[in-house]
Amino acid sequence: MHSQDWLVDHLRTEGVVKSREVESVLRRVDRAHYVDRGIPHAYAYQDSPLPIGYHETISAPHMHATCLELLRDHLKPGARVLDVGSGSGYLSAAMGLMVGETGKVVGIEKHPELAALSVSNVRRDHPELLDGGAVQLRAGNVLGDVLEREEGFDAIHVGAAASSLPDILVRKLNPGGRMVIPVGPQWEYQVMQVVDKDREGQVKKHNLMHVRYVPLTEPGESSWEL
Ligand code: SAH
Repeated sequence: MHSQDWLVDHLRTEGVVKSREVESVLRRVDRAHYVDRGIPHAYAYQDSPLPIGYHETISAPHMHATCLELLRDHLKPGARVLDVGSGSGYLSAAMGLMVGETGKVVGIEKHPELAALSVSNVRRDHPELLDGGAVQLRAGNVLGDVLEREEGFDAIHVGAAASSLPDILVRKLNPGGRMVIPVGPQWEYQVMQVVDKDREGQVKKHNLMHVRYVPLTEPGESSWEL
């Protein structure tokens, strides 16, 4: 009990973890490394969000698992991934392991202190992902900057709720790519939207379950200049 394997066994029994790829990556990324240091060890393996400081939370494990399952086919070795609102760094690390050395995950966290903490979390758990590895964690309201400088992405995960689907993110999706993003009003229930761009560049959206995420800092707010 009270181990990452125990948590993953639970998520498998619940049917949230469906694939071998997601199961194996979740077993490799130990949630205890990504929660607030003051939290009792056993809590890390419960299926609920937990504080990570700066009034932010690490998402519940079933949400991490759900997003990884939704993005699974787009997290192949060599894929380019954007993780907006990377928080604790948990999902960036998991996606980094899936895309491997030839892939790239750009995680962005607006709180610089939290971004620094996420780097130390990943360093304890999977140091090979940093310093030239697959994962780059960027601090501050730098989404606009990243979108301007980076090429397109095969997978985009947004870990905070947007009031409406940001077109700028849809444009940055590569043909054949997929984005998973909570969309809806702040501090209420939002809907998890899956946005697919086909090989011809046609965009299709569908709505999944209701979710509750913290708000995404959007263009026009503070320094999200585009
Ligand atoms: N997947 C993360 C979720 C963290 S909560 C985890 O499980 O740890 C969402 C995070 O999004 C918060 O830490 C918040 O600071 C960040 N955030 C919100 N808007 C942002 C923006 N425009 N750019 C970067 N980070 C943002």
